Amino acid sequence: MSTITIFQIAIEFWGIIWCIIASAGIVFGNARLHANRSIKLIMQVLCILLLANDSLAYIFRGQPGNTAYYVVRISNYMVFFSNYIYMGVFSIFLWKSVRELNERMPGRIYAILGLSGLGVLLLTISQFQGLFYTFDAENYYHRGTWYFVAQLIAIVGMAIDLTILLQYRKRLDRVLFYAILSYFVLPAITTVIMIFCYGLSLQNIAIMISTQIMFIMDTIDISSRLDRSHTALVRARHEAAHDAMTGLWNKVAGTAQIKKYIAQMQPEDVAALMFVDIDDFKSINDVYGHDAGDYWIREVAALLDNVCGKDDIVCRFGGDEYLLFMKSPADTTTITTRFRQFKELLQFKALEMNQNVHCSVGICRMNGAGCEYEQCLKIADEALYEVKRNGKNNCVLFEAGKQNTTEREKKIIDPTAALRMQEKFYRKIMNMFIAVVYYDAKDGTYEVLKECQPLHDKLPEGNRYSENVVVFVRLCADAGDQEAVCAFLAEQRIRNQTEPVVSMEYRNAAGGRALVHTFVNTEMKETGGKNCMIAFQDIYTISV
Ligand code: GH3
Ligand code: MG
Repeated sequence: MSTITIFQIAIEFWGIIWCIIASAGIVFGNARLHANRSIKLIMQVLCILLLANDSLAYIFRGQPGNTAYYVVRISNYMVFFSNYIYMGVFSIFLWKSVRELNERMPGRIYAILGLSGLGVLLLTISQFQGLFYTFDAENYYHRGTWYFVAQLIAIVGMAIDLTILLQYRKRLDRVLFYAILSYFVLPAITTVIMIFCYGLSLQNIAIMISTQIMFIMDTIDISSRLDRSHTALVRARHEAAHDAMTGLWNKVAGTAQIKKYIAQMQPEDVAALMFVDIDDFKSINDVYGHDAGDYWIREVAALLDNVCGKDDIVCRFGGDEYLLFMKSPADTTTITTRFRQFKELLQFKALEMNQNVHCSVGICRMNGAGCEYEQCLKIADEALYEVKRNGKNNCVLFEAGKQNTTEREKKIIDPTAALRMQEKFYRKIMNMFIAVVYYDAKDGTYEVLKECQPLHDKLPEGNRYSENVVVFVRLCADAGDQEAVCAFLAEQRIRNQTEPVVSMEYRNAAGGRALVHTFVNTEMKETGGKNCMIAFQDIYTISV
């Protein structure tokens, strides 16, 4: 046996090993990664038959004896047979790769299957008539007179396959297209190589290699498609349960979770359902525009999400309404803190936007087991109505429990009742801020209107504005912020202020957040000076 033949047989041997591993992968691997599993498996088995029989034909050719006589004939038959069957199976694989759902198989595929059958028929006849090939007395293979017909059948079949591949190439991922194209290109290249390397028969190896390329690329393609469909599924699930505008749970998903929790409540549990509604939202749409209305719907959602605990459930109930469900223990302090934080953040946002936006909140607190969602929602709605009836921008809590649903205890939480009573602007903000200073730009004088007690205790004698601010800044602002706060409050900056409200946020050493606002009466321009209110607001806590 020549060196080149041994080399070829060695390659075919490793090819067979590879095909066996790939077949095992198809049989035992993840079924979802292998669409057209049986076709791919048949293609691998045909490759094994092709390579094994090609090797046997080479090993036994020219050998004497009965075994060699039969092996050479059977293996040559099997090489041709596997080639024709592969051609037919490949055309089905190609069609399954490019077809769309329920699309009818084109006539060309049937033509290839017909050619494949014709090839096998002529091959079988050729065993008796010597059409495609014959064997001499030495057991050597020789081409028959119809050998070109054998080749022609294969070439026509492949050409038809190529027309299908090119016609539907847009339906394939680019990499998979090139992988399938290799079935046409590699045998062509090997035919050219064989012109120069006499004695080498690489076409079968080329078919095996292109089969493996198609197998790998098809698996990668399916895997990435599975990834994409998984991502789409996760997104669809998220979209089905969330409100597109705010990102909160939507009504269906939110209320389902609330209902589930209420049904599982124990006698010692205390939960609260807060019904939040933006006040005069129609006017917000009318006065500031629909886009501003949308902005506030998103902003209120974000603020509710911001103040709720990690176990709380917040959902958009519809329009300008939201539900915030606080799981047990929803004690009065926690409820009040949540409401206060929400109100302050909204107040700050409204000041920043210079728009008058606030919310009313009706709360139903449920005690123990046995409450029903629909009933609690009705109670929260009644509480909300109570707030709306009493001037809005506030919060009312009704107790609901199994025992006292008819005569429920009624409590009104009203941390800003005083604020609503006050008519004048400075009186209003006195309740919101911990320190308020009035600055008269005409004569440059200051008057301290309000200061919080801890701050007052630390003030030096005389209680002048400049000292007040210095102490305040020293106590509340981080060293790095102190300069910025002083600059923010500088007389020159206030004189140049053209916006009615300018705000600044900073943190104190204890991690509390504070806000400084300057409210300038810009309408005083023509009188040559500005009146200005400087207010300090604590958002959470300020350790002074
Ligand atoms: P009230 O203080 O009594 O709640 O008065 P209101 O004006 O807020 O009345 P209501 O809550 O009934 O008004 C809701 C309005 O919200 C009606 C609708 O035009 C508007 N709206 C609902 N959904 C949207 C939305 O997605 N975007 C905007 N911009 N407006 C919306
Ligand atoms: Mg409303």
